Amino acid sequence: PGGGAKKAKANGGTDLINRWNGKPYSQRYRDILEKRKTLPVWHQKDEFLQALKDNQTLILVGETGSGKTTQIPQFVLEAVDIETPDKRRKMMIACTQPRRVAAMSVSRRVAEEMDVNIGEEVGYSIRFEDCSSARTVLKYLTDGMLLREAMTDPLLERYKVIVLDEAHERTLATDVLFGLLKEVLRNRPDLKLVVMSATLEAEKFQGYFNGAPLMKVPGRLHPVEIFYTQEPERDYLEAAIRTVVQIHMCEPSGDILVFLTGEEEIEDACRKINKEVSNLGDQVGPVKVVPLYSTLPPAMQQKIFEPAPPPLKEGGPPGRKIVVSTNIAETSLTIDGIVYVIDPGFAKQVVYNPRVRVESLLVSPISKASAHQRSGRAGRTQPGKCFRLYTEKSFNNDLQPQTYPEILRSNLANTVLTLKKLGIDDLVHFDFMDPPAPETLMRALEVLNYLGALDDDGNLTKLGEIMSEFPLDPQMSKMLVVSPEFNCSNEILSISAMLSGTLGSSHQQLSSLGSMPPVGMHHRILIPNWFVRPREAQKAADEAKARFGHIDGDHLTLLNVYHAYKQNNEDPSWCYDNFVNHRALKSADNVRQQLVRIMARFNLKLCSSDFNSRDYYVNIRKAMLAGNFMQVAHLERTGHYLTVKDNQVVHLHPSNCLDHKPEWVIYNEYVLTSRNFIRTVTDIRGEWLVDIAPHYYDLSNFPQCEAKRVLERLYKKREKEKEEARSRK
Ligand code: ADP
Ligand code: MG
Repeated sequence: PGGGAKKAKANGGTDLINRWNGKPYSQRYRDILEKRKTLPVWHQKDEFLQALKDNQTLILVGETGSGKTTQIPQFVLEAVDIETPDKRRKMMIACTQPRRVAAMSVSRRVAEEMDVNIGEEVGYSIRFEDCSSARTVLKYLTDGMLLREAMTDPLLERYKVIVLDEAHERTLATDVLFGLLKEVLRNRPDLKLVVMSATLEAEKFQGYFNGAPLMKVPGRLHPVEIFYTQEPERDYLEAAIRTVVQIHMCEPSGDILVFLTGEEEIEDACRKINKEVSNLGDQVGPVKVVPLYSTLPPAMQQKIFEPAPPPLKEGGPPGRKIVVSTNIAETSLTIDGIVYVIDPGFAKQVVYNPRVRVESLLVSPISKASAHQRSGRAGRTQPGKCFRLYTEKSFNNDLQPQTYPEILRSNLANTVLTLKKLGIDDLVHFDFMDPPAPETLMRALEVLNYLGALDDDGNLTKLGEIMSEFPLDPQMSKMLVVSPEFNCSNEILSISAMLSGTLGSSHQQLSSLGSMPPVGMHHRILIPNWFVRPREAQKAADEAKARFGHIDGDHLTLLNVYHAYKQNNEDPSWCYDNFVNHRALKSADNVRQQLVRIMARFNLKLCSSDFNSRDYYVNIRKAMLAGNFMQVAHLERTGHYLTVKDNQVVHLHPSNCLDHKPEWVIYNEYVLTSRNFIRTVTDIRGEWLVDIAPHYYDLSNFPQCEAKRVLERLYKKREKEKEEARSRK
């Protein structure tokens, strides 16, 4: 007796009392701590802390699941003094994540490991959601959020150590942060940077960070046997489900991880797997099928960590957990117990075509490096198997070796605006790890100049300054900022909120470039998920959608949906009955509130035209045009649309709500497939083009085409009207 007390005294009682909140540690804390200590990074804890002490920048490479994301920031927190010299406030540790889900999920886990409440000492911050407080000392945040913070805090003075995690993903924001942080480190000798990555592009990182030391954490991977299909699969979704069922029937115990591309596909697969397994009756074990994708609510995300169900009876066939995930599970989140991986070879990726200036999120083939990462997920706890749903020939010949950095395949308008706001004027000499193509930079500067965000010398204007504060694409922030002039800012806010849930800056899910589908693989079109269309009630769902339809366009239809949702008190059962996605609406409503706050900061008036006036919708359409005048298509006499200036043949996406083919439309999305579709379209008038964007519709700088001739007539008409007005005076 008394031994415990003595021990506690010997080290000041620190292992009994939680340093962060002064409370005694819970039993759960102790249980998790034992598990944490078995993670590979713990074997190199002292080595890591020594290296951190000796260097300003450090590169850490380790296999997925070795404990980088959850443990390293805690090591840092333990070792680094985060008191500011005047002791009045604490400095924070930041850890960036390319994906929102990872930031949320990992921070929750770390809060649990530290025995504190999420949002207090440990928090997270993602676009449109800040879950941190004045007490926060460790913050997980998306790379995009850290970049936004730099806009108001250029030296990132609230941080003592910044951990750039998942650097191998090479997202746009991470790449910009690389260059920015290099500069900040020069100005802040007290700041430290840890760059963490899963795969080995380590030499490149080292070269870029002036020879910073590299630490490797050896993984503990078991062998994974790889299987290919003999023939290309016509339908990878069907093939994936078939493979799951076969594994469940024939293979020994072990959980299954299936990689698919997005919410709808994943939910569909989960339903089908459950159905097929239940058809097999009690010849097979029970399954727990769990989806994982970026818009899943946090409580549902936690389910991936729950154990597999036990066999129905002792000695019976094994129960299994089946996780159906986007490539979030490729490196961002580690799920223990996976023995079988099914890899159809696709992921949703951002593709930018500078010619048409529109970025698309497209299902495209992954890279060899990604395929390798995916198969690795099967060998975390024991030898595993990976089923690739493509041929070995396709793997060897069609897949790119590495994932292209996002900066080389994205629209850079938003990035350039952010950089300008950060005071970086010389973009050509900015220290990019992989400099973007000069055309892409030029395009971005040009777009921002047309929008009025940059002046002719490339300097940020007052308008540009305000636009940069909105976490939206510049076209959308422009339409918001000018919407009070069209007396419809309330409506434009609603439309922007609805659009930003599904489109625009969604850089969450990407892993490789495949501008052309390899032989035997195909592209799929992505459908926005405002409308739910269950297989068993398609007709009712289509009728419900038609009730919201606005004949002048999809943007106005979205507005109708939003209004109806609010009029029905945001009632989930109303959503269910009307086949609209409640979760998506709830999140749009939240986004809207945040945008309202930014509007208020800049004294942008909230206003609406009279709903019964003829101008109500006209004003909204005009305001939308004020931001989107570069995304316009014209209906040719031959019956097809040509994009303005670029003269690309496009078709209205079949999902549109129009009851006619307007002469001019604005569009939000350009969907590249065998046919080029424009999606989310609204009817606009040719006259508005010459009124609202004459600088863009400058005919001296316009390719010869039908649209040009129509515009010439419109300009003449305007001239004549002005003439008449003058003579009347
Ligand atoms: P890395 O960043 O090196 O890939 P992580 O730090 O993400 O590794 O994961 C370390 C371990 O923590 C893994 O075994 C993982 O399964 C576990 N882990 C992470 N989040 C959770 C969670 N929410 N619940 C249970 N275990 C988790
Ligand atoms: Mg990690």
